[in-house]
Amino acid sequence: SFKFALQKYVDHPETAPKDVVIFYDENYTVIRDLFPKAIIHWLILPRKNSSKLPQKAFTSTAFYDATLTMVEKMRLRAEKELCSILAKPNCKQDVTSNNENDQNCGTNSSSQNLIERMNLPPPLYIKAGCHAVPSMSNLHIHIISSDMNGPNLKNKKHYNSFNTRFFIPFDELNQLKPDDSRHNNQIMHALIKDSDMLCSWCQRNFTNKFTALRAHLQEEYHTYVKEKAKK
Ligand code: 5GP
Ligand code: ZN
Repeated sequence: SFKFALQKYVDHPETAPKDVVIFYDENYTVIRDLFPKAIIHWLILPRKNSSKLPQKAFTSTAFYDATLTMVEKMRLRAEKELCSILAKPNCKQDVTSNNENDQNCGTNSSSQNLIERMNLPPPLYIKAGCHAVPSMSNLHIHIISSDMNGPNLKNKKHYNSFNTRFFIPFDELNQLKPDDSRHNNQIMHALIKDSDMLCSWCQRNFTNKFTALRAHLQEEYHTYVKEKAKK
């Protein structure tokens, strides 16, 4: 079933398309999310602990620490890719395309990128974390920029699943209390369904108006890119 669509990347990363697989070793596979919800949207898949809930899986300190190392490595790599996308506005405007330009993104990790990285506004920060109630069965950690300008952001649940407590930052995954509401599926489902949508750039409240929010997020991003180009 679709719930195991990520299994193939866990079992055979070497045979998966090169434009999907970003990295793999014996313990982790890192892939591009097939339905990106932001400019950068990757998934880290642990290969040896692949079917447990994140709230359970990361109670093991050794496993948490090893995964944290991978998370930090990928966060850095994602920042570099985002910086190179921003430096070349024509490159990868459509994040789903697979042209040659895309391949170049993220490979030139010059010192200029590192300087730019420090100037990224909070909405372009790369965050790492898991959904409280994942839809896919294989354990995975989202590496995602906060701009929310992915071509596959199509509804309120998509948006709120990354912008409410439904999204559990990786830093918090190893220290959830037993009574934390993020263990409770019902509360979590209600949270993404019922919470107002706040713009991740300016916090403006769009309540239930998804189409207006979507347009506004695009405007926030394009304004940022234009302003940046002037400098
Ligand atoms: P979840 O809600 O389970 O935390 O997120 C699962 C993620 O997997 C979603 O962001 C979804 O877009 C992504 N996804 C679903 N199917 C596939 C697939 O076949 N390949 C890739 N690369 N990503 C997928
Ligand atoms: Zn805004």
